[in-house]
Amino acid sequence: MNIIDIKQNNRKRIYFFLRERLKATKQDIAYNLQLSLPTVTQNLTYLAEQDLISSESKIANKVGGRNPVAYSYIPEAKVAIGLDITRHHVKSVISDLDGNIIKYVYRRREYQRTEAYLQMLGQEVEAIILSSGVERSKILGVGIAVPGLIDHEKEYVVDGRVIDNTGMTRRGFSKYIPFDTKLIHDSDAAGYSEMNKNQTLHNACYLNLCGSIGGSVFFHDNVYLGDGLYSCEFGHLNLVPNGRRCYCGQKGCFDPYLNSEVLSQLTDGNLFTFFEKVDQGELAITSAWDDYLDNLATLVTEIRMMFGSSIIIGGDIGAYIDKHMNTLRSKVDGKSPFGEKAVKYLMPCVNKNEAIATGAARYFTQEFLESALVMPETSEFSTD
Ligand SMILES: [Zn+2]
Repeated sequence: MNIIDIKQNNRKRIYFFLRERLKATKQDIAYNLQLSLPTVTQNLTYLAEQDLISSESKIANKVGGRNPVAYSYIPEAKVAIGLDITRHHVKSVISDLDGNIIKYVYRRREYQRTEAYLQMLGQEVEAIILSSGVERSKILGVGIAVPGLIDHEKEYVVDGRVIDNTGMTRRGFSKYIPFDTKLIHDSDAAGYSEMNKNQTLHNACYLNLCGSIGGSVFFHDNVYLGDGLYSCEFGHLNLVPNGRRCYCGQKGCFDPYLNSEVLSQLTDGNLFTFFEKVDQGELAITSAWDDYLDNLATLVTEIRMMFGSSIIIGGDIGAYIDKHMNTLRSKVDGKSPFGEKAVKYLMPCVNKNEAIATGAARYFTQEFLESALVMPETSEFSTD
């Protein structure tokens, strides 16, 4: 490690120490991190100048004399915006450095491949900034999550047949958004935000059950993308040879059996109503739900056999799954080749409505935490 790395490393250690402790004095920091007081002071001054930390002298001093100054980490020092674009809606969030949601807006908007739609995305971003009162200078960027396979290097949608966005670029989606942007596969964003919420999981597969089926898998906390674009395209595993036609052109994929519209189409496109009717015990609805759970249990079993990891039921269906977990788990148990119990590894998602948008925003906050503390060098900076 060279001198610059050491300096930057010290700054990061101090910042993350404050982030963990929420509040600490210079002396606490110097003692715990084994750094000299001048080094701690210089770094704290720098972080305070960047408005990343604040200071106050409120800690009681038992032996009298001047109260020591306590420094605090500021989670909302920087924020990011996430957009979740689907066929029928746009969800927007602003979240802070800890992934907490400062503002969430749901808007029913039919997706269209038009200039007017792109303008509307720009307006949504402006609207959520205005309604949240967040200062523009704090905004790190806007993560745009869409259904479709994304080429991250070339930043475009390679295959976007779910909402007709094939070939669309990050630059195109961002045309009316005056911030840094990233284009993100919706299933990756959802899995990413779920993994951030659950610190005990390190290997997991997130099943994104929305208007189309996707997923993401995490090994040792990192998303696995494979060598190409097709990792975790669970929707196109085959359930029924020669079965229902899938949007991909094949027959019998899981997608036409498990996408959330299979259920919502029975209640005028409204998934909330569908689950209300499940609760009321309406026969045709409960029967469709039971079939759905059977098929979902098959998919869960196949994923378990492939990855052997925890499996999270997410997406639109994940928002309603909690009270049906026992039924689903017993169906999964009935299909287990090894007699293991699904209660050990199958769980509902924690993020119920805004996982995709939050995950999309999280790319910017995480990037900031990992790299943006690497600041320009100053000549008076000491390394001791
Ligand atoms: Zn398919």
